[in-house]
Amino acid sequence: MSLLTCDQFLQELSDYLDEEVREDVRRELEKHMAECPNCWVMVDTTKKTLSIYKKLEPDPLPEPLKARLMQAIQTKIKSAEGG
Ligand SMILES: [Zn+2]
Repeated sequence: MSLLTCDQFLQELSDYLDEEVREDVRRELEKHMAECPNCWVMVDTTKKTLSIYKKLEPDPLPEPLKARLMQAIQTKIKSAEGG
C-alpha cells in the first residue's frame, strides 16, 4: 500500500506536474498512481490538458487557470469517492 492518501496525493500533484517535486516525493506519488486508478486517470487527464495549454501558449500556465484546474480535479475526485 502507498503511504499517501488521495488528498495528500492531490496536494503534491501540482508540484509533480511542474516537475518541482522532490525525488522521494515523486516516487511516492508514482507508487500511489500505480495503486489508485482514480488518481492515475486524474494525472493522465491533467497532463493531457496541460500539454494542450502548453502547445497553445508557450508561457507557463497562468496561476488562476491552474488553480481552477486543480479545483476541478479535486471536485471530481470527491464525487468519484461518493462523498
Ligand atoms: Zn488516489
